[in-house]
Amino acid sequence: MNEVSVAGVTIDTRHFIGGQRVASKETYTNTSPIDGSFLGEIARGGQTEVDAAVAAAKAVFPAWAALGAKGRGEFLHTLADLIEANNEALSQLETMDNGSLLRSHRRGVMPRVAMNIRFFADWAINELHHDVFETRGHTNNVSWDPSGVAALITPWNAPLMLATWKIGPALAAGDTVVLKPAEWTPLSASFFADLTVQAGIPAGVFNVVQGFGKEAGAALVAHPDLARISFTGSVPTAKTIARAAADNLTPCSFELGGKSPAIILGDADLDLAVEIAVEQYDNAGQVCLSGTRLLVHESIAVEFAARFAAKAATLKQGDPRDPDTDIGPQIHQVHFDRIKGFVDRAKADGENIVMGGEPNAELGGLYFRPTLVKNPAQNSEILTSEVFGPVLCMQTFVTDDEVVAMANGTEFGLAAIVVSGDRAHAHAISSQLVAGTIWVNCFFVRDLKAPFGGSKKSGIGRDGGTWSFDFYADIKNTVVSPNGWKE
Ligand code: NAD
Repeated sequence: MNEVSVAGVTIDTRHFIGGQRVASKETYTNTSPIDGSFLGEIARGGQTEVDAAVAAAKAVFPAWAALGAKGRGEFLHTLADLIEANNEALSQLETMDNGSLLRSHRRGVMPRVAMNIRFFADWAINELHHDVFETRGHTNNVSWDPSGVAALITPWNAPLMLATWKIGPALAAGDTVVLKPAEWTPLSASFFADLTVQAGIPAGVFNVVQGFGKEAGAALVAHPDLARISFTGSVPTAKTIARAAADNLTPCSFELGGKSPAIILGDADLDLAVEIAVEQYDNAGQVCLSGTRLLVHESIAVEFAARFAAKAATLKQGDPRDPDTDIGPQIHQVHFDRIKGFVDRAKADGENIVMGGEPNAELGGLYFRPTLVKNPAQNSEILTSEVFGPVLCMQTFVTDDEVVAMANGTEFGLAAIVVSGDRAHAHAISSQLVAGTIWVNCFFVRDLKAPFGGSKKSGIGRDGGTWSFDFYADIKNTVVSPNGWKE
């Protein structure tokens, strides 16, 4: 009833509060997006569980903070070792739960999860030395102190990775954590809780409350005993969270959606441009950073479109556990219907859908064909709204000014891609784009030290490197006078 067995491991699907597994009166059913198979019954938390988890995190906070960066770092390195040792189980589990490619989890995602925990452990130890400034003989001692209980709310598209972008810096900075994972992908957080136990992390430092956003999530973000709220998800949910946080003036960090441009300049290497463009279907299009608007210079548009179609036709859609699969299923029937709704409305509006545009009838279930909409109407829904599925739009442009205006012409500012064969040209364009991350002739590369986040409606704050610490820490300046000492 409270267990799921995947890849030879058994996961307890109750909450994890104060080091104990805790059941709720109610549960909900979790199924796999791969084939709709039953995965398990998951605890459905609310106010009671949130109160218990925040209380547990608050109680152990002074002890965790007192360990210092080095003491905490030892636990976190052990945790990273355990993540590495459990790569296969975590990968299979995550694939069953969210439908992302198994090969990506094994080779890319799970190693990065471990790396990220290590990175923040080391950062806290090595980089957070106290800054010291002299002012008229006075010494300013700046320190990054632990701030308290951090509430972390995460989405389903990269469940464990996005959770650890927050867990790593929060724990390393000395905060204690209550994580509310997305209801469609609860399993990796539950398994991760077991790894924290094996790593010896004290009870209450890391807690998981499972359940729905409107129940467990809403209760958590309204809690008065939080020091921080860090949220990754959609813009409407961020607005709700911001309103709840306002009552307690709880500081929030938001990583939100996007409708990013991928700009293919006239001087681009076309093979590279096509490769990058097709990559935007990764994770069945369920990637916040996806360059879903292909903006292609008119002079190469016909050639680009032909090569893009040829390359996209080679993508294999199917079971994400199959090593040959490139595109798996959408996460959930509700989300599948949302994507289909966007595409059906675009069709009804007479938009030119030149590829895909429908569910994959051979596979059935939650598999939606990679889709391309050519030259959508300027203010159309399909061009301006985040679909969060395998749906790209393609438009052409002539001048640089025109493409910069098009690229910046949405409410989002998460990422942008520029493909060009000319450094000066690429720089001239990228320097005018409003986005948190800009990739030039590449996609998806980021040093863990570098910031990640969005401008405009794509977010508030940044994850990564020092930006994370600044958020999770209480930054304090102690000014010491040269006067008044008795020695
Ligand atoms: P969502 O906003 O529906 O849910 C995200 C999380 O918030 C879930 O855990 C959910 O249970 C919780 N939640 C929902 N209502 C809540 C409430 N009232 N109070 C507290 N918590 C609540 O988003 P989603 O559909 O899970 O994720 C997709 C969105 O996430 C897309 O917009 C995508 O672009 C965005 N995203 C952004 C990034 C980024 O780093 N910028 C990364 C991944 C996904």
